[in-house]
Amino acid sequence: MSQTPQMTTDGVQQNGSPATVDDQIDPNVSIQYWNDVPANAGGMLAMLGQYPWYSRIDLRGSKSFLAKVRRMVPSCTTEGKLAQGVDCGAGVGRVTEGFLSQVCQKVDGVEPVEKFTRVMKESALSASGVIGDVYTIGLEDWYPDKKYDLIWIQFCVGHLKDSQLIDAVIRCRSALTETGIVVVKENMSTDPNGEDMFDELDSSVTRTDDKFKSIFRGAGMNVVASELQLGFPKNFHLLPVRFYALRPKV
Ligand code: SAH
Repeated sequence: MSQTPQMTTDGVQQNGSPATVDDQIDPNVSIQYWNDVPANAGGMLAMLGQYPWYSRIDLRGSKSFLAKVRRMVPSCTTEGKLAQGVDCGAGVGRVTEGFLSQVCQKVDGVEPVEKFTRVMKESALSASGVIGDVYTIGLEDWYPDKKYDLIWIQFCVGHLKDSQLIDAVIRCRSALTETGIVVVKENMSTDPNGEDMFDELDSSVTRTDDKFKSIFRGAGMNVVASELQLGFPKNFHLLPVRFYALRPKV
């Protein structure tokens, strides 16, 4: 996601109805943007900060958040690897390589940009059988056909409209094993008026905490744990990053 989100001018559409921030998302612009980014881990985070320190902090934070969540979910194993995970909006598999492959026996990938999924499919982790099915598709078009212990969704939902995100989370909810967990890890809006922010560069929306919570509620999910990713140096003016661990409402 870009470092320099653009604030929207509270526009009114041609037809007179008020424009919502996510109305501005254009998937063609997003895919074009990501196609122009180099297909390596640095490319994934180029706009966010200086790789590799950013990535190191990010991956370490994810590991400890997941360990905490596994202790909170009744009857979820706290030791050993989970059987099946999936990396959504996987890019070239930075998160899979640096984290998910260490906590899951098998990791699938969902990513719309073909030059990124190719990297994942041709990686050593794929050759060794850790990476399973890699789907070249947007999250809004992904209909999971198996059950997952962990669905990890990071730095990509800004490319989905609110309604698409609700539907995608509903499908993820149905694709969880008995003790399965969805984790969403995303940038947070810093808009002084508490609005979502539109970023023209990659045509994405950066949402507020309130918006995320209402989307998860709408998708029938409970937020069982949520915290900010700590440890990023203050002087880089990075957007705050928040984790949400989701479990189906009972
Ligand atoms: N999650 C990875 C990659 C982040 S970069 C990481 O943290 O390293 C954002 C990724 O979102 C890019 O790979 C981009 O191609 C992907 N993306 C763009 N539109 C998407 C969509 N509609 N659904 C899922 N992923 C999308």
